[in-house]
Amino acid sequence: MPEGDSIFRAARVLDRVLKGRVVEKFESVLPALMRVNYDTPLAGRTIESVTTRGKHLLMAFSGDLFLHTHMRMNGSWHIYRPDARWQRPARDMRILVAVENVVAVGFNIPVAEFLSSREIVRHRELGALGPDLLGRSFDEIEARRRIVALPHDTIADVLLNQRVVAGVGNVLKSEILFVAATCPFERVADLTDADIDRILGVARELMAMSVRGRRRQTTRSMDPRAMLWVYGRGGLPCRRCGATIESRKSGTDARLTCWCPRCQPPRRDRAGRAR
Ligand SMILES: [Zn+2]
Repeated sequence: MPEGDSIFRAARVLDRVLKGRVVEKFESVLPALMRVNYDTPLAGRTIESVTTRGKHLLMAFSGDLFLHTHMRMNGSWHIYRPDARWQRPARDMRILVAVENVVAVGFNIPVAEFLSSREIVRHRELGALGPDLLGRSFDEIEARRRIVALPHDTIADVLLNQRVVAGVGNVLKSEILFVAATCPFERVADLTDADIDRILGVARELMAMSVRGRRRQTTRSMDPRAMLWVYGRGGLPCRRCGATIESRKSGTDARLTCWCPRCQPPRRDRAGRAR
């Protein structure tokens, strides 16, 4: 599933090729989008920007119109020259935005709608998003407030909760907690404010590191086979201490969590008390 960093990279590329350009053609197989296109045509509008909010992508058109998309599991945006062959079958096409010499094609996008700026503010998902970890003005105090409001949740679940902080997906969740030396199953109530601030700091740092390059990386290794610390490495030795990495499916979606039991001991163990 694309995480905030992947969506950010996609938006950055779309913004680079589409920003300031005039739409020549808009097509979609989604009736709700075509209805808007029929009533208030997209062709002739200027694309003002392509940005992200957490895992959501917003393409802004002149005349206060935004195309909001969410990739969920399989969606993706591709950019082609008008005569180029698509890398995905045409039947997977959901949205097509063409400007002079460039065609942006959204494949298998399950969530797509047009919104005005006012509708964005009131939007059920967009309006409720927590502070964006990749946002230029990240509100750390607000993020911490939203975390401590869920004392019974584990820190792993809280990081995935887009209403708390926006952008973290399953891979980055495990990586952030490894770098922050925090046990994923720690309850928020057992963490100090300093712990939470440290975790948020690591989260921002790893997200920023991941969007700098062309792919996700949390280690500083030059080895393309060593981009991640723990995710997907259950049963393998920890890159830092050599202990065996553990992995477990947990939470409502049975999402995989990976961690090093030695580098990320539960707090009570660290304090020397028995669990
Ligand atoms: Zn370790």
